[in-house]
Amino acid sequence: MNDISKRIIELTDLLNKYNYEYYILDKPTVSDFEYDRLMQELIKLEEKYPSLKLPDSPTERVGTEVLSNFVKVHHKLPMLSLGNVFNEDEIVKFDERIRKEGYNPTYVVELKIDGLAVSLTYENGILVRGVTRGDGKVGEDITNNVKTIKTIPLRLKKDISIEVRGEIYIDKKEFERVNKERKEKGLELFQNCRNLASGSVRQLDSKITASRNLNCFLYHLPNPIDYGLYRHSDVLEYFQSLGLRVNPKRKLCNNINEVISFINEITSIRSTLPYDIDGMVIKVNDIRMQENLGYTAKYPKWATAYKFPPEEVITKLIDIKFTVGRTGKITPNAILEPVKVMGSTISRATLHNEDFVKEKDIRVGDYISIRKAGDVIPEVVEVKLERRQEQLLKFSMINNCPVCGSTLVRKDEEANHYCMNPLCDARNIEKLIHFSSRKAMNIEGFGERIAEDFYNFGYLKDISSIYDLKKYKDELMELEGFGEKSINNLLNAIEESKKNSLERLLFALGIRHFGEKGASIIAKNYPSIDLIINAKYEDLIAISDIGDIMAKSIVEYFEDENNIELVNKLKEHGLNMNYLGKQIIKQEDFADKKFVITGTISIMPRDRLKEEITIRGGKTIESVSKNTDVLILGDNPGSKYEKAKELKITIWDEEELKKRLGDINE
Ligand code: NAD
Repeated sequence: MNDISKRIIELTDLLNKYNYEYYILDKPTVSDFEYDRLMQELIKLEEKYPSLKLPDSPTERVGTEVLSNFVKVHHKLPMLSLGNVFNEDEIVKFDERIRKEGYNPTYVVELKIDGLAVSLTYENGILVRGVTRGDGKVGEDITNNVKTIKTIPLRLKKDISIEVRGEIYIDKKEFERVNKERKEKGLELFQNCRNLASGSVRQLDSKITASRNLNCFLYHLPNPIDYGLYRHSDVLEYFQSLGLRVNPKRKLCNNINEVISFINEITSIRSTLPYDIDGMVIKVNDIRMQENLGYTAKYPKWATAYKFPPEEVITKLIDIKFTVGRTGKITPNAILEPVKVMGSTISRATLHNEDFVKEKDIRVGDYISIRKAGDVIPEVVEVKLERRQEQLLKFSMINNCPVCGSTLVRKDEEANHYCMNPLCDARNIEKLIHFSSRKAMNIEGFGERIAEDFYNFGYLKDISSIYDLKKYKDELMELEGFGEKSINNLLNAIEESKKNSLERLLFALGIRHFGEKGASIIAKNYPSIDLIINAKYEDLIAISDIGDIMAKSIVEYFEDENNIELVNKLKEHGLNMNYLGKQIIKQEDFADKKFVITGTISIMPRDRLKEEITIRGGKTIESVSKNTDVLILGDNPGSKYEKAKELKITIWDEEELKKRLGDINE
């Protein structure tokens, strides 16, 4: 295989993975900027080498396949994405392409709200359905949740039947409120407004959606001519006459220069808007012209999205402060002259470790650029060397823990320094926070503040002392800011956590290099803590997905007498020490094989099928490659089916699947 073909496969797989994380999990792992950069690279390669394009290429697809418990709805007309342009030149080229077809267009320019697209159906003026975009053809029915959004009218001002489309989003202030509340409760934070809006709309419990003040702007009518409308600008006015909310910040532009100046105008006030926008949308105003220009598989040719570059700001590095994590890891943090990036004030940013600071030659007193590409966590991009004053001191790593003073250790194979003192206060507080966090023991109400306060007041020492807190109930209720109700709730949540399944406890212990996924795999293979304590390195490493580092880490952790003592104390407190889910029993047809699922599976929900495969020793992956062993074929399969046939991969239809699974009753 040549390098280009390899790169195309690599980009296809990577972008499909990012799509899944972004659209299904609402948890992107890369910035939109990085995603768009890789997408542009793939588009260019595919244009140059069309024969190498893969059937499941993300350049051909809108969103991603819908995987959820919501009822699926077919859109009458597809809900497409938008093409992208990234600078003035490309905006002009977009206009030139249209002119080359013999048109002289006027444009409506709108703000590109960073939320998620929704289709609303009204029958005789009454809202009857709300559906997400999904993969453009099939979306999820979110009617009950949509009805909780106050800016979506339940009844139009006219008793007509109509499908309208727009964007559900959340204001920046509401985003901050929800995250503040979650931080206090020790819950995971949402990365940005879009994630929060998407996560809130796709809640099975509408009460949660209702508690999150969502908002909506409408901007698209799929069939305007049926309503006697021949210009997009008229559509938006018509929406307003129906009582639908339309963004007032929009402009009818007579030529591309007016488009560019309106974009510049909005760019300069972007950070003062109450909501996040990630670009501007340019749409041909004339509907007949739109129809003649037509569509690609993925987007209309009569519209495009101008994407803002990630905002980079320059600020001064005032100091570098070191913090200690639960594993003892020391992190250098940049203390910055406060600066606004994308609407929020930044005064700190992580510098990761010694190597990061040294590679970039970051020195206290330097001017550095900070980027926040739609994510919550700001990143340090580079030092502005041209602004450096000569006498700045080179960075040197500290040798002692900033909290307990013990000597730091940098292990050979790692870039990080560690405080090795198990009694270090900072480490102990971080351990308590981690233990009670949502993905670990999930103790509601036990956040950062409680961990710090109760530790400093002497009520908490190590993890097991969490379960002794009840002895101090009366004293705790007297503390400022903690009433009877909050302490009762907290103590109940602590008691409740004793019933958790083993994998939560295992993750909560905070073993190095060991995430929730690793904990879940180990618990399925070794369903009690005693079995894990006695597991040998050779046995652990033999488990698929458990690598050398994780296996070593588990063995090392339980070789330490202090950790065994901690487990024993937790046992005495009555914590469940067993795995409560289904155990892995390897089955010949599944063991050590890689499965890809495509289409709608009728015998069980997709998540359950994945679980059934896992407990038989198999693994499910997202995209088909030559390493795939079996493709499981449901109804209306996607392009994965074509690719699997091409690569001659074994295919099981539902009948075959049922046979292989055998008895699947609970
Ligand atoms: P898009 O966000 O580039 O543009 C289309 C969407 O814009 C529409 O579906 C609609 O929801 C929205 N929109 C907002 N205001 C609008 C208006 N006035 N008129 C029309 N549409 C408007 O496309 P997409 O398909 O939703 O998402 C692709 C983008 O999402 C990528 O370019 C990338 O930035 C991001 N993404 C990021 C990751 C990641 O891992 N970070 C993964 C997948 C996608």
